[in-house]
Amino acid sequence: MKIQNANEAEEYVVKHLGIPFVNFKGINLDIVREIIVALESVFNEFPALKNSICAIGKPIDIEYQMTLLYHSSKMHQEQFIEHGSIPFEDIFDERVENIAKAYIYGDSTGAIIYTGIQLNGWQDKNITLEKFDNYYRRRNAEGYTPTNCNRSKNIIVHEIGHLMEWILKLRAKPKFKLLIENVDIEREISGCAAVSEDEIIPEAFARLLVHRWRTK
Ligand SMILES: [Zn+2]
Repeated sequence: MKIQNANEAEEYVVKHLGIPFVNFKGINLDIVREIIVALESVFNEFPALKNSICAIGKPIDIEYQMTLLYHSSKMHQEQFIEHGSIPFEDIFDERVENIAKAYIYGDSTGAIIYTGIQLNGWQDKNITLEKFDNYYRRRNAEGYTPTNCNRSKNIIVHEIGHLMEWILKLRAKPKFKLLIENVDIEREISGCAAVSEDEIIPEAFARLLVHRWRTK
């Protein structure tokens, strides 16, 4: 993959990864390449996920595209669910709400019509892949992320985990109840997963994939 600028990266993602709305402008190119590697790696493991993500990029574009979809859809009652924020203030002095968020847009029947990953802090001009990775190494050492999930690209895997959970309604499955009743979430999954039930499946998903990639 030879990607020299944001335009080429966007074209690649649209053409090869099947995500129609992409905006990587203003994001460090090394980070963009890592995002693409993360998306590709997840899609290789779960090809069915390949056409299930509608957007990745800047929040303003995600919201714009969602507004368009909202107005063009024939929904009776709409709901907008937002999940997956990660505290960002630890990295830089200026407060940015979060790094990345998974977004989903559904109707009253529970049908999902739109999914996306919003990239926030990734666009900070001072950010480098090294800085991002150092931050995640530290968080991993503290037990906040699952074993060996010490690279910033694991954030993308985590966000896809949120989307997958919603698409497949994984929390309604009996296995999920078994998991939360029988597993020491903090020890077996991560500190992040122990903070909120919302974070259990995304963290378990990141843990599973990173383990698979390491043992291949
Ligand atoms: Zn999350």
